[in-house]
Amino acid sequence: MNLIVLDLEWNQASGTRSNPLVPFEIIEIGAVKVNSDWEIEDEFAGLVKPLLYPRLHFKVREMLGYNENYLKKGKPFYSVCREFLKWCGESYRFVTWGEPDLEQLQRNMEYYGVKKLPKPLLYYNLQAIYGRACGLSAACSLEEAAERFGIPADRPFHRAINDAWYTARILQAMGPEQVLDDYTFDTYNNPKNREEELRRQTGDLYQYISREFSDKRNVVRDKEVMAIHCPLCRARVGKKIKWFANNHSVYYCGGKCRSHGYFGGKMKFKSTLSGKVYIIKTLKLTDETGFRALKERQESLRIRRRERNKRQKMLEKKGSDN
Ligand SMILES: [Zn+2]
Repeated sequence: MNLIVLDLEWNQASGTRSNPLVPFEIIEIGAVKVNSDWEIEDEFAGLVKPLLYPRLHFKVREMLGYNENYLKKGKPFYSVCREFLKWCGESYRFVTWGEPDLEQLQRNMEYYGVKKLPKPLLYYNLQAIYGRACGLSAACSLEEAAERFGIPADRPFHRAINDAWYTARILQAMGPEQVLDDYTFDTYNNPKNREEELRRQTGDLYQYISREFSDKRNVVRDKEVMAIHCPLCRARVGKKIKWFANNHSVYYCGGKCRSHGYFGGKMKFKSTLSGKVYIIKTLKLTDETGFRALKERQESLRIRRRERNKRQKMLEKKGSDN
């Protein structure tokens, strides 16, 4: 299986109305093919002649260092993308630096009528993998990571093909052991029904991506979705911190498995373009300190909520007294 290291450049509306289906129109597709021996085999650079936003946003123009005349040399997205997918071959997985590229690619594909990518779509978010490996708390830029690996900056950054090439060099430097098991499910084309639901377990982490629900109330009524279990052996646990809301879209939980110890959980509510809801649940082993931190977070949120309610009641009382 080959790895297709992908990077895109896109443009957005400038002085015109944005199209909600495609807020970002792809103008460059850059990719580097890395084979199973971890060698760079080929490169792909495609220039797209934009249709939706022919005028470059000033920030994009500045970053790319060219103007609209240069883009006129490009071909329509439909043909560049089809050419690109043909170049990718039969068996491959995408590698990107960060999350948004695959979403924008699929949005543009859908809009321009290119056949959908296979589902479920597994890919490697190298930025996140690198961050986890180095224990970074914030996302690291491509330039910074390339510099840390001592990769010479002899190609200008912020051109799709060059950024793909830097990402491929970082991929090579990290090696298969650090990368291959650490894939991510792309959720642009999220699971629609039970059969399509996604579950995975790697190391001390368990991830579950649910089917679609009509609304949040129906999600929290579902027993399997809400189940708090050990990420390793899936045993339901007695001692636990029940789900509590950090904000309207993120919930946390915790527990202790008799055989594997403490773990923490996170549930993210995601909305689809059609207004449905699905969740991404992650359960991961932690230690006593991590478990205690969860408990403290739950407690401080409870106090904050109680005080907010008290204030609210006082304001209401004032209102009715006047
Ligand atoms: Zn267990």
